[in-house]
Amino acid sequence: MYSEDDYLMISGIQHFLFCRRQWALIHVEKQWADNVLTYEGQQLHTRADEPKLREKRHDLLTTHALKVHSPQLGLSGICDIVEFRQDPEGAKLFGRQKRYQPEAVEYKRGRAKWDLSDTYQLLAQTLCLEEMFSVSINQGWLYYFETNKRQKVVFTAEQREDLKKKVDEMHQYWAKGYTPKVKTGKWCQRCSLKDICLPELLKNRSVPDYFQRRLTE
Ligand code: SF4
Repeated sequence: MYSEDDYLMISGIQHFLFCRRQWALIHVEKQWADNVLTYEGQQLHTRADEPKLREKRHDLLTTHALKVHSPQLGLSGICDIVEFRQDPEGAKLFGRQKRYQPEAVEYKRGRAKWDLSDTYQLLAQTLCLEEMFSVSINQGWLYYFETNKRQKVVFTAEQREDLKKKVDEMHQYWAKGYTPKVKTGKWCQRCSLKDICLPELLKNRSVPDYFQRRLTE
């Protein structure tokens, strides 16, 4: 069980999958956290409002901006939307007679990606919901603005295991305060931190070392 101080942000999983160094620059070194996370927060969660249950139909409740966490995985985050569908096998909700099965819905700017970053972010939210509500949840939903499509994502046992391993690796880096060295590739061209990561200059150095050297030159 992790303490709240060691919870890592679910939104960081997409950075970690893209490049471990990018994730560490943002989440471990926190040198660029304000810029990147503030921008992402504005872009992705402009719809967020106070969490409260809303009844859409008699068998469906929705909640926006629900804070979720998992002491077992040491993760926390905010779900864009969680839908609670009436289900006798579902969770007991405060103030409700019936039981409800929760499923996360995550909104994304572009279109479906070739990698698993959106799926793993949704799965991490789902693992938190499972722990918070003591239920098993097989699926979630990704909604892409560009294509205006809502896509069902059914999680596999392999994805669950793989995500847990990656989150474990994130915690190891976090505990050691470790930022992986630069490993350049064509993916660097798409990296929002490429100007500050300085991949060619920093192949064998850390960012603080680099700036220290620049300041003393
Ligand atoms: S520039 Fe390349 S090595 Fe540096 S953080 Fe971005 S993807 Fe990673």
